[in-house]
Amino acid sequence: MQLLDGKALSTTIKAEIKEAVDSWLAQGGKKPHLAAILVGNDGASETYVASKIRSCEQVGFTSTFVRLAENTTEEELLKEVRKLNDNADVDGFIVQLPLPKHISENTVMEAIDPAKDVDGFHPINVGRMCKGIPAYLSATPFGILEMLERAQIATAGKHCVVIGRSQIVGLPMAILMQRNTYPGNCTVTICHSRTQNLREICQTADILIVALGRPEFVTADYVKEGAVVIDVGITRVADDSKKSGFALKGDVKFDEVAPKSSYVTPVPGGVGLMTICGLLTNTLKAARKEIYP
Ligand code: NAP
Repeated sequence: MQLLDGKALSTTIKAEIKEAVDSWLAQGGKKPHLAAILVGNDGASETYVASKIRSCEQVGFTSTFVRLAENTTEEELLKEVRKLNDNADVDGFIVQLPLPKHISENTVMEAIDPAKDVDGFHPINVGRMCKGIPAYLSATPFGILEMLERAQIATAGKHCVVIGRSQIVGLPMAILMQRNTYPGNCTVTICHSRTQNLREICQTADILIVALGRPEFVTADYVKEGAVVIDVGITRVADDSKKSGFALKGDVKFDEVAPKSSYVTPVPGGVGLMTICGLLTNTLKAARKEIYP
């Protein structure tokens, strides 16, 4: 079994991004600028946004953090989105999900200028991704592709099973794994809460990508000997032994599954860190106007 170490890989990728920023600045380019809007006080979201802002500093980006109260109306949020759309210094921005229930995520995502949509959630970027036109790819699937590629994991002709069909992880992941390129060219099965015989389907996976948000759901009996197992799940579970009062758990029961896998990602220290690299890469592309000249 080989560990797909998101910590080590993300450190390498951030150093590469920093180098690319330095060279861009030396050519007279503008410092890349990422902004993040956070609505409300969800603990996990606060941690993610703080980590994204910290990462910006590490790679030499400018960052802006817009914090809005839980009771912010949809119209007020849309106003902030428009401000960032119109701010020529901001190259890309994200609206941290999930949003409070009274705000439509689709409406907000559609309001973001596709050229600044570095999370890759706008329908134009999703559509371009589906058609194989250059686009900002959703940060988590993008980070996973990077992991597979850097570890030179063979994907062509393999059966890839994705558990989860969310707009931000499962669905784009499945689309990307079937593309006629590397990493890709898989035969893909998408599973969800209505899937019958989930365990049996997973047992046929050469590459199993798990994104359902249920801690330690995938046990050893779901996994074929030698499979590649990518655990996207991150759930906070109460843990009195931790200072924070919680521990982070993946969707895969790591201790059982790791010995059967050829490659496996840990949680924490796996996909989560790669997601940030995906976001930083997209922001650098935005600053260099690579996707939308
Ligand atoms: P989501 O929107 O809640 O989607 C979960 C998906 O899993 C849905 O498609 C759901 O099916 C399916 N599902 C739920 N229970 C199932 C079951 N018992 N059997 C089969 N499928 C089931 O979640 P998400 O946003 O994709 O996130 C999934 C997990 O990844 C969460 O733990 C989240 O925190 C984590 N995450 C991590 C990162 C990262 O950077 N590492 C990024 C994003 C998300 P239905 O469609 O039928 O409801």
